[in-house]
Amino acid sequence: MDRVLVLGQGGREHALAWKLAQSPRVEQVFCAPGNPGTAAEPKVQNLNLASDDAAGLIEAARRLAISLVVVGPEAPLVGGVADALRRAGIAVFGPNADGAQLEGSKLYAKAFMARHGLPTAAYGRFTGLDPARTFLRRQDLPVVVKADGLASGKGVVVATTLAQAEQAAEKFLRQGPILIEAFLEGEEASYIAIVADGQVLGLAGSQDHKRLLDGDRGPNTGGMGAYSPTPILDTHMAERVRREIMVPAAQGLLAEGISYRGFLYAGLMIGADGPRILEFNCRLGDPETQPLMLRMRSDLYPLLLSAARGDGLPTQINWDPRTALCVVLAAAGYPEAPRTGDTLTLPTALPADCKIFHAGTRARDGKLYTQGGRVLGVTALGPDVAAAQQRAYDVVQRISWPGMQFRRDIGWRARP
Ligand code: AMP
Repeated sequence: MDRVLVLGQGGREHALAWKLAQSPRVEQVFCAPGNPGTAAEPKVQNLNLASDDAAGLIEAARRLAISLVVVGPEAPLVGGVADALRRAGIAVFGPNADGAQLEGSKLYAKAFMARHGLPTAAYGRFTGLDPARTFLRRQDLPVVVKADGLASGKGVVVATTLAQAEQAAEKFLRQGPILIEAFLEGEEASYIAIVADGQVLGLAGSQDHKRLLDGDRGPNTGGMGAYSPTPILDTHMAERVRREIMVPAAQGLLAEGISYRGFLYAGLMIGADGPRILEFNCRLGDPETQPLMLRMRSDLYPLLLSAARGDGLPTQINWDPRTALCVVLAAAGYPEAPRTGDTLTLPTALPADCKIFHAGTRARDGKLYTQGGRVLGVTALGPDVAAAQQRAYDVVQRISWPGMQFRRDIGWRARP
């Protein structure tokens, strides 16, 4: 029987640990550091270790005879945690720092897309304000200004006026180089694949809701909800994305001498000209993972283990045909200044096909408190989007704390 170690502490990692613990081949899942949700799962145990503490993780992996480490978030990947674990002879699912650059640097990603002919928006790279201003004056509006490095969703401004664009350029240039990108029209969707040294196994399509407020208004967040499948990524479009984007990307990494074994996430804008890449991420999406794990019928563990070991991939994953939908419950003040320490209680009995994943919670003396921006992800399956919404929102109604925020329209684009 095998033992898995999941790195991270968000809703994505709770969903991963929950799913991996269901594998008949897995005896125990450890989370470093995990959260109160993972601590309460059968077969799951938290370790008091940070997800970027390479030395501590290597020691723990050896002591606990871990057969596979699965890295949840991007920061430890960009920081080289997977490299360190691999050097110590431990099987890891998650790319090394070279592959993680696809997310760690938007400029690296754009140059990579150009080298491999991948469809994306035209852009310019700038290190000084004057050339950026000159370039901006020649662009159509809206125009998109992006900071180069990891910014947890805060490094992108879609500017509708020249003044807004110049302001964003000035602000981002203080931290380093910037990109100025043409605005793409269309509908956004997430295509995530398991990539193993040039091979690609696509997951089901999903869509998240980045804005804080109903109707896709308000500031950008890490994600206020998600659902899968999504009509925009139907079989035909998913095949196009696989053929035009994911396979050439995976082959491109291989051709450049990068051994990429991990999730590769393409944030897409699907418009009249077909799919265009908005961004690459080197890990699963949060909250897309929560509905995806609820829908996945195949055993995730052997898939990830075989990819991590370089043993290849099967040709398909078995999915529940129903819709899964996740509503994120966020703390007061999110995303600007989330408040911590509010008390919350969870319903004791949940309906079938419903699961509450923890993200920013803290347990103390048998009580639960809010601990971060996104606190919980209430996720439910239903025969269609409307039914999944109904089930998830029925549970949401039974949870509250002072200032709790959530969107009431998750899945609206998929409603007839
Ligand atoms: P990113 O982190 O690059 O995915 O950007 C965050 C969000 O900004 C995306 O989810 C889109 O909503 C928006 N965005 C980024 N780039 C573009 C673009 N070229 N055209 C339109 N919207 C964009």
